[in-house]
Amino acid sequence: MFSFSKFYSASTLQEAYDELLKNKKNIILGGTSYLRMENTNYNTAIDLSNLSLSYIREEDNFIHIGAMTSFRDVEVSPIINNLFSGVLSSSVEHIIGVQFRNNVTVGATVFSKYGFSDLIPALLAMETTVVLFNEGEISLEDYLAREGKTRDILVEIKIRKVEGKGSFQSIRKSKTDYAITNTAVTKSQDGFRVAVGVRPSKAVLAYKAMEILNSADEINEDIINEACEALNEIKYSSNMRGTGEYRAAVSKVLVKKAIMEVL
Ligand SMILES: Cc1cc2nc3c(=O)[nH]c(=O)nc-3n(C[C@H](O)[C@H](O)[C@H](O)COP(=O)(O)OP(=O)(O)OC[C@H]3O[C@@H](n4cnc5c(N)ncnc54)[C@H](O)[C@@H]3O)c2cc1C
Repeated sequence: MFSFSKFYSASTLQEAYDELLKNKKNIILGGTSYLRMENTNYNTAIDLSNLSLSYIREEDNFIHIGAMTSFRDVEVSPIINNLFSGVLSSSVEHIIGVQFRNNVTVGATVFSKYGFSDLIPALLAMETTVVLFNEGEISLEDYLAREGKTRDILVEIKIRKVEGKGSFQSIRKSKTDYAITNTAVTKSQDGFRVAVGVRPSKAVLAYKAMEILNSADEINEDIINEACEALNEIKYSSNMRGTGEYRAAVSKVLVKKAIMEVL
């Protein structure tokens, strides 16, 4: 279990950020599910609960999801369920159980770039922007491509509103385990986006597969197979849940299934 010496309930984001920078051992609290698995002693734990960061809002061109929004809120939101066939809801609805999903937060998950995440590939398959308090806006793609974490606070994510279909697919050894690998595919007027997660490192876009799909005059089984073969560009590796070779093989099957679902 993690511990901390002081608890700081921030009244503004500026206060939270100033407090974060005061000491390397100060941390932001999300739902604390992941922090509770650590054995680290922190200095000040900064709580964002009073900053009204739990929301899902639909505006003209974007859907805004606040950092403190829970996975459960994402799962049941009509706004999210209407977006790309509810691909984001599908990505989280099987994670552990309702009580757990009521607690874990979108902000902590995206900020931490967890390689095992089910949420992140689904966000990557849509056009998602990360809004950081100090740094401002950055595309999720660029944010994930960066190594390490900055000392900042994730305020919200923004998903560009586009009409389209989406599919999330994953494989796991048991229902409540982390995925061995996963994928999310979307298709809209802008074309296909194919994201692959749990490689087991951070999720990436499958650029070659997208190029094949997006330049084809017609999507048929040959084109889909060609796109799936192009997943060889992605680096998969091994951990206790599966080998890199197994992940690479299964990923092709999951991506094919997801493409067929969005046609
Ligand atoms: C037992 C267990 C099983 C899980 N299984 C899965 C699974 O199958 N699939 C899946 O996708 N996920 C899974 N997760 C991960 C989970 O879904 C969340 O991604 C994770 O718990 C982080 O969310 P949290 O709110 O608990 O974060 P916390 O534990 O509160 O924080 C995690 C980190 O994020 C930082 N942080 C929090 N909020 C912010 C913010 N706004 N800005 C900047 N930094 C911030 C914290 O300082 C900390 O470093 C699992 C987690 C656990 C504990």
